[in-house]
Amino acid sequence: MPTALIYAPEFLDHDTGSHPENAGRVSGIKTELEKLPGLNWLAPREAEEADILRCHTDNHLDAVYQAWGITSTRKFVALDPDTMMSRGSLKAALLGSGGVVTAVDAVMSGQVENAFVLVRPPGHHATPDQAMGFCIFNHVAVGARYVQETYNLERVLIVDWDVHHGNGTQDIFYADKSVFYYSLHQFPHYPGTGSHHETGVGAGKGYTLNIPLPAYTSAADHVREFRRGLKEITAKIKPDFILVSAGFDAHIADPLGELQLTDQDFSQMTTDLKHLAAEYCEGRLVSMLEGGYNLTTLPYTVSRHVRALQAKE
Ligand SMILES: [Zn+2]
Repeated sequence: MPTALIYAPEFLDHDTGSHPENAGRVSGIKTELEKLPGLNWLAPREAEEADILRCHTDNHLDAVYQAWGITSTRKFVALDPDTMMSRGSLKAALLGSGGVVTAVDAVMSGQVENAFVLVRPPGHHATPDQAMGFCIFNHVAVGARYVQETYNLERVLIVDWDVHHGNGTQDIFYADKSVFYYSLHQFPHYPGTGSHHETGVGAGKGYTLNIPLPAYTSAADHVREFRRGLKEITAKIKPDFILVSAGFDAHIADPLGELQLTDQDFSQMTTDLKHLAAEYCEGRLVSMLEGGYNLTTLPYTVSRHVRALQAKE
């Protein structure tokens, strides 16, 4: 079965001005992915209000709509010091969360084996109540809740290998044992959270795993830690669905991080997750773009990730 590639041209309409998170990221990746045979390109649907409100508050949704209203007269509105909104941002963000939903549907229907969502703005810093760190809605969180509500699957594993800790995703599921949040990230680094002491709260205690890595951790140690974490998780839960917050800013060439992964390491980690999905959940795996800011290397790194998703074992 093929791998789905979810993409909408509206992702380019999220204008951030002169900003590391810009449309060139996704357009460069798209050009590279168009060279890959056998991908099943799908258009996303827009997330509905109900999809967003499974993870975000009414206040947050109102604030986003209010800011978007202002973009009819002002080119840019700042939702937080790092997070810009322009006229096309709302639709891009709704298609982003909806893209994950579309990917989940494609996998669950048996139409494809797995999927990659080529999305911007990214999502993992968006908390229940606020936009943050280039993120407006938390796409991976919307996807996790959608899996549970629509397909009656109980346990979702979110793997986040972006160089930054996904504080928003952690917040959303911190007290929830049904969604396991696993993050490896540079530490200390933006946004400041993600120490190994942060393991969940209440019923969710033990269902968040953070592996903080010092700047310049070797790729070999990084991948070893990644695998150690996966073992620790699967000793505790058998996931019914795996979602990946695939940021590529832990790449050695990335300007926003100081970790040292290569294309080969991302490919290997992808294969590890495919094996895990095959073992526990009939291969059900949806990955989506989070960070990654070296416009020269990013398209090739993502291509390696997608080729690993497509590979026949
Ligand atoms: Zn990042």
